[in-house]
Amino acid sequence: MQIAIDGPSSAGKSTVAKLVATELNFIYCDTGAMYRAATVLAQQNQLDYGDEEQILALLKQATIKFQPAKTGQLVFLDDQDVTLKIRTPEITNNVSQVSALPKIREELVRQQRSIASGNNIVMDGRDIGTTVLPDAELKVFLIASANERARRRFEENITKGIQTPLAKLQEEIELRDYKDSHRRVSPLTKADDAVEIDSTHLSIEEVTQAIVKLANE
Ligand code: C5P
Repeated sequence: MQIAIDGPSSAGKSTVAKLVATELNFIYCDTGAMYRAATVLAQQNQLDYGDEEQILALLKQATIKFQPAKTGQLVFLDDQDVTLKIRTPEITNNVSQVSALPKIREELVRQQRSIASGNNIVMDGRDIGTTVLPDAELKVFLIASANERARRRFEENITKGIQTPLAKLQEEIELRDYKDSHRRVSPLTKADDAVEIDSTHLSIEEVTQAIVKLANE
């Protein structure tokens, strides 16, 4: 069975997708982490974030791997653990530019389909239900208000000792939403057959259980 979870930034997709996968004993694939890893490749090789050909060449030579760990999922770029690096502000603020490059999307979509092939999987991202896995048995479109998403990010940052003002976080989230839904290739859109869940007033556990229930129907 394939479960696609799409939605805007910071709507809780990864947290919920991981819990759903654990509960159903499915594998979990965080496609956002793959676009972030491609952005790290560009940064570490001092490339312009719009340099499609060079980033593609590096991406084809590199291997992005996920490894389960007690602390969550680790992300590797070849042998380099980039789990923390992919979440730094530099990468977060530039990933939309890299993910808008058509050839980068083509390559990562190919890799994502190969990861999903023949597996019970929960995959989260922006275009999973529409493009990567259009035949997924269950598609969820997870949303929450921009204010609530900024508030969640703010709380999460506090636990990491990061102190970005709430208003700035909301501004960044809205800018990323705008870029992700207005790009030419695979803009963020809800698949016609996706179930929309608004998590603004729901706990992580409530959203997880709602998705597990839909999967078991
Ligand atoms: O989900 P996350 O916020 O980690 O994703 C980072 C960025 O990667 C998004 O803002 C978006 O630009 C891009 N992305 C995408 N398609 C996906 C997953 C992520 O374009 N399937």
